[in-house]
Amino acid sequence: MHRATDLILLGPPGAGKGTQAKMLVERLGLVQLSTGDMLRAAAGAGTPAGKAAKAVMEAGDLVSDEIVVDIVRERLAQGGLGNGIIFDGFPRTLAQAEALDGLMAEAGRLLSIVVSLEVDDAAMVERISGRFACVDCGEGFHDRFKPAPGGVCPQCGGAAFKRRADDDAETVRERLRAYHAETAPLIGRYQDQGLIARVDAMASIERVTRELISVIRPKPAAKEAAGNDADLAEVR
Ligand code: AMP
Repeated sequence: MHRATDLILLGPPGAGKGTQAKMLVERLGLVQLSTGDMLRAAAGAGTPAGKAAKAVMEAGDLVSDEIVVDIVRERLAQGGLGNGIIFDGFPRTLAQAEALDGLMAEAGRLLSIVVSLEVDDAAMVERISGRFACVDCGEGFHDRFKPAPGGVCPQCGGAAFKRRADDDAETVRERLRAYHAETAPLIGRYQDQGLIARVDAMASIERVTRELISVIRPKPAAKEAAGNDADLAEVR
């Protein structure tokens, strides 16, 4: 039996946090908690928090700790947290990290690991400013690395695509600045707590996923994810 595996994916915009979180949801039955997705949904729905967040997000700046911590608190209270939580894009400031400690303690949960996705900064602007997604099913694409063949989404056949408002090169640079000023110092904090694992996120998506699984779930579950049940029985 596994206890819940709650983890944080840390890394600059474009490091692949969202992409990798989705892979881990599929392979390990974890639940993705993306504050960016939740804020975009709130902005789209026109809630008070969403309205306050919209302009800040479009400028590439950080939304207030209060708004972000509130949406995380609400999500945790809803339950339905599968085999554990992947915090994607949260915490992004020291105050958020401290608030998360409190929320986890209240919920009787424990952070298992904090993964730092290590990337080359210069490549991030290119990675992000080329990305787009299918309007119908949300599948992600990239102008250069993963184009939509014939302008059609191979997942659902849709032909309408969207780009995030904050993915233009200038806003991406502002988001990177915010990352280095506010979020990167969290690596040291979690390092001091013995929770940091560093993963090279410049490799292929599949390779990064494999590496992530091996640091999140030492041997048995990593083999399970690879479908190698015989070996699994052996190491149990
Ligand atoms: P993301 O989808 O994680 O790239 O987030 C998109 C934008 O949402 C960020 O550039 C911020 O404006 C805002 N945002 C998401 N998560 C947070 C957070 N934890 N703290 C502050 N702002 C956030």
